[in-house]
Amino acid sequence: MRQTERTAIVLRYANYRDNDRMLTLLSPTQGRIEALARGCRRPRSPILNASEMFALGDFELYQKGAHLTVINATLIETFYPLRQDFDRLSVGTYLLNVAECIAQPGVAAQELFMLLLHTLSRLTFSDQPWRPLTAGFLLHLSACEGFRPRLQHCVHCGRRLEETESTWFDHAEGGLVCRECHQQAHVPVSAAQVRWMKHMLQAGSAAWVDSPEMTVPYQLLRSYVETRLDKPVRAAAMLPRD
Ligand SMILES: [Zn+2]
Repeated sequence: MRQTERTAIVLRYANYRDNDRMLTLLSPTQGRIEALARGCRRPRSPILNASEMFALGDFELYQKGAHLTVINATLIETFYPLRQDFDRLSVGTYLLNVAECIAQPGVAAQELFMLLLHTLSRLTFSDQPWRPLTAGFLLHLSACEGFRPRLQHCVHCGRRLEETESTWFDHAEGGLVCRECHQQAHVPVSAAQVRWMKHMLQAGSAAWVDSPEMTVPYQLLRSYVETRLDKPVRAAAMLPRD
């Protein structure tokens, strides 16, 4: 039996019994955590607001055996305005789902945690369009999870690619393919999209790169990241259509 305090964000909850919830949390130091929030659905529960999706807070956890219970929580941010825009709410939910698929229990997820917070903050409090925000999230996520796309050389023959030449993307190999090596399964990528990815990776996850929406490889990065996950992203079906 021991007590710990963890900063975490609520990725998901499942209602349980009459007043309880099982929370799935993302902690920068502990990765994915399942914790029972007992009584959190009672109107006057002190942990009511911290048991909602997107809630960022300091969670006081009590551990008994393998089970964690939330005994108190200090709410830091609710990202409340997301609820006022259905499209952005769907995108936010998608980001939480992707983070949940990537994070592992007991494995530190500092970069993923910061990336999620940066992206949710922009999605909630700025008017930056959601497509580049989502594409940037997915690109940086691939970099911090060790499958950063290779953009300088053809992943098949190793030839250095020129900025202006036509290229394709190989999802399985995780990078660009040249004209000589490309096959039907590979997806065409424009030179502007390649530049956007290089620029974003160079600028870092905290930076914002303004660019015309058509140069953002949103669909490409979605399929690239989603095929690497071991289960389908539930909220993907709710995402706004192009
Ligand atoms: Zn090649």
